[in-house]
Amino acid sequence: MSGEPSLTELLRQIRACRLCAEHLPLGPRPVVRANAAAPLLIVGQAPGTRVHESGIPWNDRSGDRLRDWLQLDRATFYDESRVAIVPMGFCYPGVDRNGGDKPPRRECAPLWHEAIRARLPHVALTLLVGQYAQAHYLGAARKSTMTETVRAWRDFLPDFLPLPHPSWRNTAWLKRNPWFAEDLLPDLRRRVGAVLGR
Ligand code: SF4
Repeated sequence: MSGEPSLTELLRQIRACRLCAEHLPLGPRPVVRANAAAPLLIVGQAPGTRVHESGIPWNDRSGDRLRDWLQLDRATFYDESRVAIVPMGFCYPGVDRNGGDKPPRRECAPLWHEAIRARLPHVALTLLVGQYAQAHYLGAARKSTMTETVRAWRDFLPDFLPLPHPSWRNTAWLKRNPWFAEDLLPDLRRRVGAVLGR
């Protein structure tokens, strides 16, 4: 990677990005965390307003649920040398006409993800949280629905493990799909513990 920017320089470039500023109601504020030593990568969707305000990813109820799924305390979850957090869109995209958050800006992942991923040589497991991360990283290998993609999680191991978004809006989904808590979560926790050396 001689002549290529370091991860530190790349993160500096990302934090200065304004590529889709005209579409961002609160303006650019990229939220991304990465350290070259990290063995676990979490690819989510895009910041909500609370994360936009704090600049801390998963600093909300969805994050609490995700940490519970992973059985990670906040100190471990926010240790950049252990967990890299790289959403599909780094900036808050605004709300759609139904009041839900808009999808991640489509410009973002193609512009930045490959370069970040190339600077994370120790990643042993990538969690794909939600349909946008699954579409980008699994491509044609993903199933016809998010539920079927998550249900087929074993097909994508050992590199990738797809998850639903841990939004509280998905509580009914979790009730409808008991295999998630009974089968997937124990496997997820075991794999996360193994890559983090716990
Ligand atoms: S969402 Fe991504 S591409 Fe758009 S301004 Fe933020 S960092 Fe740049």
